[in-house]
Amino acid sequence: MEKLFVISGPSGVGKGTVIKRFLEQNPQFALSVSCTTRPPRPNEIPGVNYFFLTRSEFETAAAAGEFLEWAEFAGNLYGTRRENIRGGKIILEIDTQGALQVKEKLGENATLIFIAPPSFEDLEKRLRGRGTEDEETVQKRLNIVKNELELSKQFDHRIINDDIDDAARNLEALIC
Ligand code: 5GP
Repeated sequence: MEKLFVISGPSGVGKGTVIKRFLEQNPQFALSVSCTTRPPRPNEIPGVNYFFLTRSEFETAAAAGEFLEWAEFAGNLYGTRRENIRGGKIILEIDTQGALQVKEKLGENATLIFIAPPSFEDLEKRLRGRGTEDEETVQKRLNIVKNELELSKQFDHRIINDDIDDAARNLEALIC
């Protein structure tokens, strides 16, 4: 049975950067590439960052039971294909709703880790500083944070990201 390490955290917390740093030093782990209906950001590569699907392609795959989990986040659909989780040590970077679905399905075979910001103000600054979302999207994402913090109480572990190297080392200490 595969071991799944599920990492969630608010938008803008820097979880992608922490995971990238961790993977550079721990190449025995593989990162699952999710499907989404969100449009690609300018620097994103299809098949590398995400598989970009239309809503109808996504819904067809969901109806056919192809997803281990899927959720709606800020108006777009995101999901993990079952075929992504075969073999080895796999990291999923998904939202808190999806993480809890994985826990429900896989129990002890899934470890849920929440990456938290040092503070809400710090998170807001980072999200705006990224400059990849318009104001309405930023507001939507900040509103989601409260709910994510609540759901994260059901997670197995929490890492505070106030320094990328420290956070990557803490992740290593938890799952290696
Ligand atoms: P973003 O649009 O910033 O790339 O991602 C938005 C949110 O969707 C993030 O919290 C990210 O972790 C989450 N996400 C990415 N892929 C998946 C997935 O396959 N399933 C679920 N449930 N959430 C995902």
